[in-house]
This record gives sequence, C-alpha cells and structure tokens, in this order.
Amino acid sequence: MNKKPNPTNFALPKRYNIIEEQMKIGKAVIFSAPSGSGKSTIVKRLLTKRKDLEFSISATTRARRPNEVRGLDYYFLTKKDFFAKVDNGSFLEYEEVYPGTYYGTLKSELDRIWKAGNHVIFDLDVKGGLKLNEILTIRALAIYIKVENLFTLKNRLIARDTENQDQITLRLAKASEEAAFESKFDVSIVNHDLDEALQHAEEVINRFLK
Ligand code: ADP
Ligand code: 5GP
Repeated sequence: MNKKPNPTNFALPKRYNIIEEQMKIGKAVIFSAPSGSGKSTIVKRLLTKRKDLEFSISATTRARRPNEVRGLDYYFLTKKDFFAKVDNGSFLEYEEVYPGTYYGTLKSELDRIWKAGNHVIFDLDVKGGLKLNEILTIRALAIYIKVENLFTLKNRLIARDTENQDQITLRLAKASEEAAFESKFDVSIVNHDLDEALQHAEEVINRFLK
C-alpha cells in the first residue's frame, strides 16, 4: 500500500465533541479493473464474507443482461433519465465508459450505506475509481485487479458470453489504456488463481477497515 495516512489515525475535529470510539466512520473500498479481470466475481464473494460491506449500486445506460436484476446489479436508466440526474447533481462521479454508454455513482448510495453503519464497496472503471479515491481521500482504499495478459482477459470475456465480438474488441482495446493507470492505485492484485486473489483482497481490506 503506497499512500495516505493510516485511516485509523483519522481524528475528528474536537468541536464534534463525540467519543471517537463510539463513532462509526464509514469507509469505502473501490475495485477497478479492465473488464473481464474478475472484479465483480471478487466483489460478490467479499460481500458474502463481510456483512459490514455493502455494494454501491451504480446507474447505467447500458442494456440489462439476462442474469441481472434491476436495482440490485444496476439502476438501468434511459439516457434522458441519466442526464436528468447529471443535471440535478445526483452523481458523485460518472463516466462514458464505452462510446455512448454511461455509468455513474449516485450520492444517495453512499448516504444510504454509510447511514446504515456499513462500509461501501464500489465496482468502477479505472477513471471513475481514481476520481472517487481522490474525492473520498483517507476514507477510501482503491484496489486494482489485473490478469497476467490480454490473452487471458480475452478468453474470460469470451467464456463469460455477455458481450458480442465487437463489444469484446472494444473492451480489450480499453484494457490496454487502463493498465497505464495501475500505479495510481493503492494496491494491485493479480487475479490468476481466484482463491488466492480473494484471500489477498480480504487481507488488505481487513487491515484497512480495522
Ligand atoms: P469483471 O467484473 O472484471 O468484468 P467478471 O467478474 O465478470 O469480470 O469475470 C469475468 C469472467 O472471468 C467471468 O466469467 C468469471 O467467472 C471469470 N473469472 C473470474 N476470475 C477468474 C479466475 N481467477 N480464473 C478464471 N476465470 C475467472
Ligand atoms: P459492465 O458493463 O461490465 O457491468 O461494466 C463496465 C465497466 O463499467 C466496468 O469497468 C465497471 O466497473 C464500470 N462501472 C460500473 N459502474 C460504474 C460507475 O458508477 N462509475 C464508473 N465510472 N464506472 C462504472
């Protein structure tokens, strides 16, 4: 981990007059990776392991996949509705992740999860992940998930069978650009063996949330 003061040293200004140990300070764990690296798989497994982690449900203009549930995997919006939310300041960040397809983090998700006394877990593209890490400063930990090479990535996307050939080509082209940002993340984890990657992620998160 290469950054930031240890968040457990984070001190509230005295004027809050609150005994710090009684105060639950919500934190955020941000996962970013080129599409197909396995970050959703890792995030889903982590959510079953730590009950104090809650997933931030993003809004998107992309079509729902058959296995996805509205309001659970994403809030699926038309472009008109998405941009109405952009205009009224509902997003903490949003990106045109693929040409013509938008994804964004709603402020209401962060509020909902922190108010419930939980820590928030994000699954974001690389640019959005770094942006949010900057906004949330010491309350956030940004983790980059990677695979050893593009060949593996391509095979995983093909095996997942959720995108057509053109979309896979687009995602692979973007993966090369995204890899250039790896060093800006707090932690990098290779997802070769899923169990090892999961264990690594758990260790890092347990330390951060301690
Ligand atoms: P992302 O969320 O990064 O786009 P996914 O979690 O959807 O990626 O994973 C892409 C595909 O690769 C899925 O079919 C998933 O089951 C598979 N996968 C994830 N991790 C591994 C791994 N370590 N080894 C082999 N296949 C994996
Ligand atoms: P997918 O279409 O495979 O679900 O997601 C495509 C990409 O969009 C992934 O890299 C995912 O992490 C990213 N993404 C999902 N939600 C958000 C979001 O709210 N903001 C940003 N910037 N990226 C997101």
